[in-house]
Amino acid sequence: MIPRLRPVLGPSEFLAAMRSRPVADFETRFAELMGQAHALAFPYGRTGLLLLLEALGLKNNEIICPAYSCVVVAHAIVLSGNRPVFIDSEADGFNMDLEAAAKAVEIGAKALIATSIHGYPVDLDKLDWMRKRWPDLIIIQDCAHSFSAQWQGRPVQQAGQAAFFGLNVSKLMTSIFGGVVTTDDSSLADRLRELRDQRLKPASFKAWQRRAYLTASATALHPRMFGFVHKFMKLGLIDRFTEYYDEASIDMPDDYLSVMSPIEAAVGLVQCDRYPSIIAHRRHIASVYDKALASLPGLRRPPLAEGATYAHYVCCVAEPNELIQEMARDGIELGRLIDYCIPDMPAYQSYVPLSSEFTRTRALNSQVINLPLHLSEQEALYVVERLHCHMRAKCS
Ligand SMILES: *Cc1c(COP(=O)(O)O)cnc(C)c1O
Repeated sequence: MIPRLRPVLGPSEFLAAMRSRPVADFETRFAELMGQAHALAFPYGRTGLLLLLEALGLKNNEIICPAYSCVVVAHAIVLSGNRPVFIDSEADGFNMDLEAAAKAVEIGAKALIATSIHGYPVDLDKLDWMRKRWPDLIIIQDCAHSFSAQWQGRPVQQAGQAAFFGLNVSKLMTSIFGGVVTTDDSSLADRLRELRDQRLKPASFKAWQRRAYLTASATALHPRMFGFVHKFMKLGLIDRFTEYYDEASIDMPDDYLSVMSPIEAAVGLVQCDRYPSIIAHRRHIASVYDKALASLPGLRRPPLAEGATYAHYVCCVAEPNELIQEMARDGIELGRLIDYCIPDMPAYQSYVPLSSEFTRTRALNSQVINLPLHLSEQEALYVVERLHCHMRAKCS
């Protein structure tokens, strides 16, 4: 069975994981790859954001973030002692509505997390306008889906005080777990490094646990194994490994304050070399989908954006769950990214003014499906063929 996502790993990553490399080497290489002066590694992207907010001196402030995003971003904002201000999605895409964000700045928000969700670059012209209008506004780029996505030729990670990245096995490139913060501001980098040295604990015990995780996820997500794994998933037997949030609580993983391990740095270094080819392949498969799905009624394709990294290829359909079940019977797993609206979660009720509206986010939540991008062109055309037949109700 074809899993909805699969990291691109070769023998060199497994060899690298048997040795280790200094985390500082990975940081230097990652900064170079992103065209930034500094990169600092963390155990998770969210830990990087948490300490970044502190290093920026943000406390008891309102911080703008998308309602349609990964919930861990909001968690980091709350745990840093700030308040999230959730903004609905734009009318014709997946990113946050920047006009609505500007209104929130007008009434006092101090910082803004700009997310190029699914890899579609955030509108940097609008962000430039906001920065001119409010020179003290702090802009942080959430690049978990957009390692070097470009808005009209400008890499999104460079357009703000700092950017953060997530590197778990579901991301564009991986260091097993891990996260990075990049910035061109040397004094901010110094403050963040100091905070990290104070707050994060060593992680020597991580080595074998991380190696085991890498092997387990590569095995489980292999198409020849994934059929079994999918059966276990349906029975709820591996929820413990796949569920990363709880609707009712704001918390972090147990090891969120332990440093990135040298094993992870070693894998991350290999993935930095592989990154250009990973992105080229995803762009190619996205263009295959785009052409082949153009004539399919009832399915809205994502906006085709130049410079997008295609972390996910996300379409909208009226009945996603039905389609997911039908496609699973054909051996294809589809994803549901993102099927929750953060401000609707019980844990966030007290952070949301009664007047807020998240109509566009909720519409996305109920309609999105994402198609696998790790495939060969031939496999992608098989996915397309099955989509055509189910959606036209012509399957034999
Ligand atoms: C994965 C992700 C993050 C954070 O990643 P972790 O490393 O899991 O903390 C942040 N933002 C978005 C949009 C993500 O998908």
